[in-house]
Amino acid sequence: MKTYIENGTVIAWQDGAHRVMERGVVVVIEGDSIVAVGVDVPPPGDGDTRIDASGRIVMPGFVNTHLHVTDTLYTKGYLEEASNLSSQARETNYGALYKTLPAVRHAIDPEAQVIAAECAFAELARTGSTTVVELGYDYEVGGDGDISITERVAQVAMATGLRCYSGPRYRAMHYGHAPGGKVWYEKYSDEGRRRFRDCVDYCIGWDSRYEGRLRTMLAPGQIDTCDPEMLRETRRVANAHKLPVQVHAGQSPNEYERIQSEYGMSTVEYMLDTGLLGPDCLIGHGQIMTRDGDMASLKPSEVAALRDSRTTVVHLPWVKARRGGVINSIRKYRQLGIRQSLGTDTYPFDMFNDMRMAATVCRIVEHSVDGASSADVFTMATAGGADALGRPDLGRLAAGCKADLVLVRADTFKAAPSYDPFKFLVLCATGDDVDRVIVAGRTIVENGRVLAVDMPAAVARLNEAARRVRSNIVD
Ligand SMILES: [Zn+2]
Repeated sequence: MKTYIENGTVIAWQDGAHRVMERGVVVVIEGDSIVAVGVDVPPPGDGDTRIDASGRIVMPGFVNTHLHVTDTLYTKGYLEEASNLSSQARETNYGALYKTLPAVRHAIDPEAQVIAAECAFAELARTGSTTVVELGYDYEVGGDGDISITERVAQVAMATGLRCYSGPRYRAMHYGHAPGGKVWYEKYSDEGRRRFRDCVDYCIGWDSRYEGRLRTMLAPGQIDTCDPEMLRETRRVANAHKLPVQVHAGQSPNEYERIQSEYGMSTVEYMLDTGLLGPDCLIGHGQIMTRDGDMASLKPSEVAALRDSRTTVVHLPWVKARRGGVINSIRKYRQLGIRQSLGTDTYPFDMFNDMRMAATVCRIVEHSVDGASSADVFTMATAGGADALGRPDLGRLAAGCKADLVLVRADTFKAAPSYDPFKFLVLCATGDDVDRVIVAGRTIVENGRVLAVDMPAAVARLNEAARRVRSNIVD
């Protein structure tokens, strides 16, 4: 039994790049994989399924390499325009990161986390993310770090039909915001280590379940909230069990100064020193990796460390841009030969939005359209993420790859007349244009509707939970 996707405009992977195939190209799926992409494929036989993709762009699903499903939806209305609080805030929004976000997280109970996860995963699927990297909670928030919450959230992702890398976060200390703008750090006694062990056990025990749709990831919370021993231990476990690692780093000038004052090193030097960097390492944000936030200021030794280790920087352009922050820049990282991918981090969980932001922000800071072409950004959002996860079988439409595809409507006022599909997808389309989503050969979104989730009921549950959370927030 095969599935034939016919008559669409196909973005196929050929000779190391995405290429647009205008006419006659058929994608053939068998089981959870693509077995052929081309014009000369054997015709469908009796019993094979045919999907007519007329008026559709057939593209690989997004590999969304950084997001949080359990708390993001409850930050709506709190975080977007929260005061910077500090005269040192600059573009990095100390107040939102160090005060508002912890305040909201503390108010979220375990049940509310699972309810939010259901809505977030559904929205991710609906808008074309087929692989999602979900970085779970820090331990002290909502349920005292009980790993069963992570297990339930993973089950929700699987029920939605997505492919998910699940990374429950751990750390050795937490931080907050003192009056006057100073950020304080407080070490946990035993709880941080206990949480670390639970997370490692979960990662080892749950990896590759659900026919491999569920994978796990080590997620030391933030570079400045883990101690060096925790980071070194993370590297040992990652190597022993072949698990990828993602850490938040380059989030704020405060973080950069903290690493400098505590360890006498830059952020990149510290990551190199603790052994964290590697082809399996993802840096979430990667925005303030130098004192001035300009990647042109990286020392040659830092560039070599990031480039030669094949570490990936995960850009999250929207969450910063909406508060006035910029990555400076995708073009510079590219010129330095440093691998890059893309993620949504916050809502809307719509990779089309982040592709557009990535391209636009880069063009603004560089005063140029060079270095962030639509095709470049599309590649970051698909194959770039797949490479970060060590998955050449994701983020691409080619024989041998997993059958993770998205059909985007191109028969609309917005899309007509048909022109360069990359420019349409990056500069014009949104998740609302997604018609069908297939993961591991199975349709999980049809006519723009997530098949596994009753949206009105899920939204009602979310609104109810949000009322409870809001009443619990202590500013
Ligand atoms: Zn994050």
